[in-house]
Amino acid sequence: MAIGKRVKLKAHEKVPGALAAAKPAGAPCRPKLGDAATVREIFRRFAAAIPNPRGELNYRNPFTLLVAVVLSAQATDAGVNKATAKLFAVADSPERMLALGEAKLAEAIKTIGLYRAKAKNIIALSERLIKDYGGEVPRTREELEQLPGVGRKTANVVLNTAFGQPVIAVDTHVFRVSNRVPIAPGKTPREVEAGLEKVVPDDYKLNAHHWLILHGRYVCKALRPDCGNCLINDLCRWPGKTVDLRKVATRHS
Ligand code: SF4
Repeated sequence: MAIGKRVKLKAHEKVPGALAAAKPAGAPCRPKLGDAATVREIFRRFAAAIPNPRGELNYRNPFTLLVAVVLSAQATDAGVNKATAKLFAVADSPERMLALGEAKLAEAIKTIGLYRAKAKNIIALSERLIKDYGGEVPRTREELEQLPGVGRKTANVVLNTAFGQPVIAVDTHVFRVSNRVPIAPGKTPREVEAGLEKVVPDDYKLNAHHWLILHGRYVCKALRPDCGNCLINDLCRWPGKTVDLRKVATRHS
């Protein structure tokens, strides 16, 4: 999903303006959209369920994380991990990536969508890292976004996961969950990121991205959200949720 690009929400996505009419007759009053206490409670539950969430892309160092995230655009983490298992054994630094060369890199990642363009970008970014940063991955968003094939989301993942900075990358899962619950509704990933930046308590910011991705990938799925097994179902105001609020209102009381 392109950062900053306006996203047309599909039928299964949430429309923030429809929330006011979503409360069934007799259901308990819901908290206001994104109010501080509700958002804190959501992340408290995520943290209790998964105290140390981790991303699912395999990597060895900041460079291989950067490469893995570039490869993951419009691809599954499992598919990327399958290809990088062999690739990173022979090319885990910009120097070794250049030594491998674009043709062999493309061959190694040919099971991943857009592999030719991605191979080109990875070779070009490896050259830039050697030329401008002594072979190291830079630690600012501005510098990362200057690299070929690296957008804001990729930069945020690297800053967060490799360098422990409390930034929140908004991918398709984070975007969907943030809009549905809602935690930080927005029409573009940038709007959602800005909203999350504002409402997520500081002590949860470092892991917020991972919790929201895992929740979106395995529970709050795009087409068939598993509302019956959702640990925040009583806090969720999405009109399309499949659980009757009255049945779940007391689950977490
Ligand atoms: S109740 Fe359903 S729609 Fe709401 S967050 Fe949970 S899984 Fe998603």
